[in-house]
Amino acid sequence: MAERLQKVMAQAGVASRRASEKLITEGQVTVNGQVIRELGTKVEPSDHIEVNGTPIDSKEKLVYFLLDKPRGVVTTNSDDKGRQTVTDIVDEPERVYPVGRLDYDTTGALLLTNDGDLANKLMHPKYRIDKVYVAKVKGIPTNDELEKLRHGVTVKTVQKGRHYTFKAAPAYAEILSSDKKKHTAIVKLTIHEGKYHQVKEMLRTVGHEVIKLTRERYGMLDLTGLTPGEYRPLRHEEVQALK
Ligand code: URA
Repeated sequence: MAERLQKVMAQAGVASRRASEKLITEGQVTVNGQVIRELGTKVEPSDHIEVNGTPIDSKEKLVYFLLDKPRGVVTTNSDDKGRQTVTDIVDEPERVYPVGRLDYDTTGALLLTNDGDLANKLMHPKYRIDKVYVAKVKGIPTNDELEKLRHGVTVKTVQKGRHYTFKAAPAYAEILSSDKKKHTAIVKLTIHEGKYHQVKEMLRTVGHEVIKLTRERYGMLDLTGLTPGEYRPLRHEEVQALK
């Protein structure tokens, strides 16, 4: 697929898109041996691009980021309602995609990458990656209710007008704290599945509406050092551990 020259340069890690545009207009870039100064120029993957005589490696560099997703942001690459998306926040030259989803009002650990193979692997149900959620719920769950979550509840729900039933796998569930006056509790739930609204639905099924939800950990990746809206690249050993 033909792409703009400055985009291909940025994706190859030559420079940011803006700086790549400058290199082009300064006449430092050739495509198939011809100096290109036009910013609209499109190139094909088969084209040979050089910057100051050095060929660029047009294979996109694989990048991995951990975002502490804030509330009020959608987990997609674009939104038809014009809401802010996670890729507006993770503003990098490479086009990255979120691995799985967090709801608009959920905060916490979200992995973004352009490594499609790893993303597909992590999202496959057989790859049982632990996701640790902390939920503030209405009411204080009883031991019986926690036991139901630990054994695997059957969720019956209606989503987008369709009735839908699923049996959630056994979860790790415990109460971290409770407030008897306000009649709320903070519950920690560890699951390895990723069905739509899964945590909210599981807790609703045992009688507790989720007021606030945060994913504290995705596999071994936790939010240490990040505040909502911040992100960081994964360290080499973190990427290896996920693979
Ligand atoms: N479960 C939910 O209900 N919402 C999320 O955002 C993630 C898991």
